[in-house]
Amino acid sequence: MTLQRQVRAVPGAEVIRTVCPYGCGISCGILAHVKDGVLLKVEPSDHAGTSHVCVKSLSAPKLVYHPDRLKHPMKRVGERGEGKWQPISWDEALETIASKLKDIGAKYGTNSLGFVSTGVGLFSNLLTVGFAGACGGTFILPAGLGDSAGPCADMASFGAFMWYGEDYLNRFENPAFCVAWGNNPADTQPFKWRRIMDAKEKGARLVVIDPRFTTTASKADEYIRIRPGTDAALALGMMNVILERGLHDIGFLIQHTVAPFLVRMDNGLFLREKDISRGESEKYVIWDQGENSAATHDMSNTSPAVIGTFTVNGIECKPAFQLLSELIDQYPPEKASEITNVPVETMIKLAMEYATQKPTATYRGMGGTRGSLYGDLTFRAINTLAAITGNISVRTPHTTQYNFMTFMTHGISDLVTLLQMYEAIENEQPHPLKSLWMTRHNLMNQDPNFNKFTRELLPKLELVVAVDMFMTTSAKYADIVLPTCSPYEWNDLAASIGEGSQDYLQLQKKVIEPLHESKSDIEIYSGLAEKMGIEGFLDKTDKEYIEIMIASGHPTMEGITLEKLEEAPQYPAPDPAPPFATPSGRIEFYTERLKDFDQALPVYIEPMESQRTPLAHKYPLSISTTHPKYRLHSMYTNISWIREIDTEPVLNISPEDAKPRNIKDGDLVRVFNDRGEVKLKAQVQNGIPQRLVNMNQGWSPWHYKAGTHQALTHNTINPAQAAIYEPNAAFCDTLVEIERVEEG
Ligand code: SF4
Repeated sequence: MTLQRQVRAVPGAEVIRTVCPYGCGISCGILAHVKDGVLLKVEPSDHAGTSHVCVKSLSAPKLVYHPDRLKHPMKRVGERGEGKWQPISWDEALETIASKLKDIGAKYGTNSLGFVSTGVGLFSNLLTVGFAGACGGTFILPAGLGDSAGPCADMASFGAFMWYGEDYLNRFENPAFCVAWGNNPADTQPFKWRRIMDAKEKGARLVVIDPRFTTTASKADEYIRIRPGTDAALALGMMNVILERGLHDIGFLIQHTVAPFLVRMDNGLFLREKDISRGESEKYVIWDQGENSAATHDMSNTSPAVIGTFTVNGIECKPAFQLLSELIDQYPPEKASEITNVPVETMIKLAMEYATQKPTATYRGMGGTRGSLYGDLTFRAINTLAAITGNISVRTPHTTQYNFMTFMTHGISDLVTLLQMYEAIENEQPHPLKSLWMTRHNLMNQDPNFNKFTRELLPKLELVVAVDMFMTTSAKYADIVLPTCSPYEWNDLAASIGEGSQDYLQLQKKVIEPLHESKSDIEIYSGLAEKMGIEGFLDKTDKEYIEIMIASGHPTMEGITLEKLEEAPQYPAPDPAPPFATPSGRIEFYTERLKDFDQALPVYIEPMESQRTPLAHKYPLSISTTHPKYRLHSMYTNISWIREIDTEPVLNISPEDAKPRNIKDGDLVRVFNDRGEVKLKAQVQNGIPQRLVNMNQGWSPWHYKAGTHQALTHNTINPAQAAIYEPNAAFCDTLVEIERVEEG
């Protein structure tokens, strides 16, 4: 590795190139300075022309050597949540857990054993999935904690997994126009923000669409305020302007999207060749204007119609673009403006710039996914806007196709999604869940409807285990807590997860020995497997497993070896797969799988707890719970360096909402709805619109005067999202009321 700047190491210290392991997913390259087995400091490595880390990574020694780190396994001796613990040996801890898991499995079926984990390293997650499979248990997919609506949309539109869909919308060399939509990368995604600023320096204009005036908005050329959760209506209104003026990219639509594919009016499915002739051909059918007859989509020298109604073998059909146009016709700018509060002139100007300043790069964020129960439709509408204007990068996203089956030695576990977990615990659907194992997943702090979980669901669980570095909110409610290593104490493989993360495959290196009695995941799971009598699970070293994972044989991994990874990050080879992995191989703004939900097209649906619903008479304010700049969810709330700059939770409220409630800056306020409450200080702020309040999420209950922010949120499942991937917790689709309360 060649560094382009001087590295100042303490005399005698070893400087080890590794990767920031914290779950923000960006995976910045770092240099760890280690002397006599002690991690002294962390600094950025030179990596792909970038050289920075954020305050979280810089605080690594404070985290690793924090006095509150869990030092031994402990068992609960009081009531759950009471905080009474007794240290026990690893042997007793694993023996107790193994015995209880076996009992529960025998009584309710082994799929009643639930496992969840989070983390960036591949061991961090795949080991838990593998162990769940090894004991016949159920892995709980964790993306539904606010992160799955976007991927639902991108799976439908592009066939893209997780956040790789973002690549299609903004990976342009030199975007002429940048739109940050419900996204605040200046605070939360440094690499993405760097790309935007690079584009801006080259002359691109930046527009920010957000209900809040964010840090990103403060750096933009134009800020457009929108009513929370109405972004799909804005996208539809913009598309109306674009179609009205003929600014859509018809060539792109015909070549790369399902625009010309005929849709049957009798059942909402694409017309297939087998529908109109003998045989089983699944080929899609278009209407060839040249021959004035139907043809399969792959025939050459056709002139596909995208507008019109056609009858093929007695079946009335319309091209998908005709159906999209009919939807868009329902959203003239005046109507979209009435829904979104974006002025008509602003919308028209934005639409025209979006369509003509090519390429336009769109950066979508959690605001879109969490702002509405229908966050997937928000993203699909934005994807469709990008597609009709040809502002899509037609290339397969850079991925590293490692061997994720490495640890599935005993078969694949049952899966339930995070929100379905609530149903499985409460109503035993689709099957009972009677134990919960959480590896670095602070479920009670980060998942919705805290009071429901702790008061109604927790008592139904016969065993709760938390594997963590600290006594988190979730660990407090566990029966047994196990101390895990910091990520500087084990080897792992860090791969890109898309959306502004590094495209590289990197080694997360063990730079110090495990502290106290903490163990790595491999040690913990292999010890538990032994106690449970599971043979052949985890019988290799971490580096041997890394070699197995990278030897997947996939073209993207060609030439990548452990030796090379030890030296430097490795860039995956181009993926030869077609750019879009949808059923049609094209961008699907019309999704057959969602027709039974009346969501085959990206329709606009008012948020569930919208300010325009009857519930708003009782609870008139929307609340957003946004990502903090200095913390990663609940991580780092205990780090002194960070608490110096991020001192306590505050609620941002507009002067217009504060005044009639007699709330002044610094007053203690109670935020409440039917589900629960939280008490914290008010911060009266002009950057917040009327009828919206905002706070950073991640604080734990003990940081508030009372309650917690997740007591306000709900765990409602959107079944259309479940039909695609994983339903999302719509944290910001939440109504509340606020009142000033006295201290004490
Ligand atoms: S941005 Fe993320 S990966 Fe980079 S240093 Fe910060 S926490 Fe680590």
